[in-house]
Amino acid sequence: MTKAVKGTHDLFDKSLLYHQTIIGRARDWLEAAGGREIATPIFELTEVFERGVGTTTDIVQKEMFTFTDRGGRSLTLRPEGTAGVVRAYLEHGMKVWPQPVKLWYAGPMFRAERPQKGRQRQFHQVGYEVLGSDSPLADAEAVALSYLILRDLGLRKITLRLGSVGDLEDRRRYNAYLREVLKPRAQELSADSQRRLEANPLRILDSKSETDQRILRELAVRPMLDFLGPEAAAHLEQVKSLLSEMNIPYTIDPSIVRGLDYYVRTSWEIHHKLLGAQSALGGGGRYDGLSELLGGPPTPGVGWALGIERVALAMEAEGLSPAPARPLDIYVAALDPDLLPLALQAAIRLWPELRVEYSLSSKRPAKAIREAEKRGARYVAFIGENEARSNTLTLKDISSGEQVTLPIEEVKSWFESGGRA
Ligand code: AMP
Repeated sequence: MTKAVKGTHDLFDKSLLYHQTIIGRARDWLEAAGGREIATPIFELTEVFERGVGTTTDIVQKEMFTFTDRGGRSLTLRPEGTAGVVRAYLEHGMKVWPQPVKLWYAGPMFRAERPQKGRQRQFHQVGYEVLGSDSPLADAEAVALSYLILRDLGLRKITLRLGSVGDLEDRRRYNAYLREVLKPRAQELSADSQRRLEANPLRILDSKSETDQRILRELAVRPMLDFLGPEAAAHLEQVKSLLSEMNIPYTIDPSIVRGLDYYVRTSWEIHHKLLGAQSALGGGGRYDGLSELLGGPPTPGVGWALGIERVALAMEAEGLSPAPARPLDIYVAALDPDLLPLALQAAIRLWPELRVEYSLSSKRPAKAIREAEKRGARYVAFIGENEARSNTLTLKDISSGEQVTLPIEEVKSWFESGGRA
């Protein structure tokens, strides 16, 4: 039997309900905040991610699904949403809209990572980008929304880790410091980190290698936060006080480094206490230089993404159920084979306001009730000779057993007004 590719999953039933619940709650908050939904293509020119994520990141170096199209162009399945959204903002001249422009999206992302619990090759994110403002208010709003959506889903065991990666100049100084302290131990670092030592030493802090992490501890490497210039430091202080005023609890994480090369200033992650190794539910940051890297005018931006599968795992871990599927209102059964077309016709007249299924073979009433119960229907509707002649349906309330006969055209309004037999 053919199976789904390793690291990919079918979403259906409960897993899909979790997805819909998470996206639905995010949509409520993000639209309320003035966000407009955007759906960008699932693949882009590879250069969008090389520039927009950064060539020294793990994502670009190791994790992209890249292919060449028939015209010889290099294309990549999107590993994240921000670069495509900023590309679209620039391409469609959203710079002339009232600023900031707030865009949100939900959809699949693709990374060639080693699959494990909470880490897939195709996964889904919901994300929010605020483009055109460098105000710390925009950062605080973005952080708050990412946190409040998770709280509103019922999650309690979440922690918000806030930090700053400084301005580009601060990072240059920090990278120079890292090169200097790490150089004497360079031979002991993992091959990846030896390469990073030249290209982007900051990435070494992110290394998954135990040895790298031990060396960092032994050298008591100072955190990025020690290297903030006065402007980035003031910005962080403003974001902190805005969050405190909103009663959003956070801890300062002095060593936070996010996956993108071009993050500046504010960066944050939200973790879940019950999820083990892959505990990050999401994260975000400010990326003021990104627009220019994609060939646009200077446009500050801040945004985040939540991993939908991770949030679903966290909800399960806290015993939170997804919003239930729309229940079946009526299960229609014809009592005689000749009347089967009427069951379909009745269903068509009741769709889409009511959720209706009908039996494809005639049923005796007792059997029809059992079938309706199996499907969780509220009512079973019989069509016999009488109903056929008078264009009515006889509806039986599955839980109370009460019965009512109604003209078909009155069934919808009867339901709207509460539908008591
Ligand atoms: P990132 O864009 O790497 O900051 O990811 C944002 C969030 O997406 C993470 O915190 C995870 O919740 C989720 N995520 C990232 N990579 C994966 C993956 N390979 N599988 C499942 N979820 C992921």
